[in-house]
Amino acid sequence: MLLEGSCHCGAVRFRLRSAHPYPFNLCYCSICRKTQGGGGYAINLSGDAASLKVEGERHLRIYHARISEPGEAPPQFSPAGRRFCGECGSALWLWDPRWPELVHPFASAIDTELPAAPERTHRMLGSKPSWVPVHADPQDQTCEEYPKESIADWHQRLALER
Ligand SMILES: [Zn+2]
Repeated sequence: MLLEGSCHCGAVRFRLRSAHPYPFNLCYCSICRKTQGGGGYAINLSGDAASLKVEGERHLRIYHARISEPGEAPPQFSPAGRRFCGECGSALWLWDPRWPELVHPFASAIDTELPAAPERTHRMLGSKPSWVPVHADPQDQTCEEYPKESIADWHQRLALER
C-alpha cells in the first residue's frame, strides 16, 4: 500500500510503500507521548525505507531522545532518529539504523486513508501517567514494555498484509 504523509504546514511531504499499514500499535512511552501523542500515546506504522521519497527535506529536523536505562548511567542518546518538521513541529517518522530497511511513520502524519485495525496493541503501559486511560477492547493486547510480536508479525497473524 502506498502511504502519503505530510506535516501540518505542508513544508514536508513524503510517501512510502508499506505492507503493514494497519494503525494498531499504540505506544504510551514518554517520548511518543511528549513528541506527538498528547492524548497519551502515538501510533507507529511500518514501511519500506528504500521506497521513502521526501519533498521539503531541508525543513526536516531529527530528534534523538536521551534514554536512561535502570542501572545504566549516564543516559544514552537513542540511535533512533525522529524526523519532524522544523517549521511546524509535526512529528513525521522514525528511522533506526539498527533496522535500516524499515521506516516508521506516525499514523498522525499520514494523509492516505488507513485501514481500520480489528484489534490493537497497547504497549509501554509501564510509562503511562495515571491520567491517561487505556481503552482496550477484549481482543486487544496490553504490555508494560515492548510486545513480543512485531508490527509485521501482527499483520501476518491476522492475515492483513497488503
Ligand atoms: Zn511543517
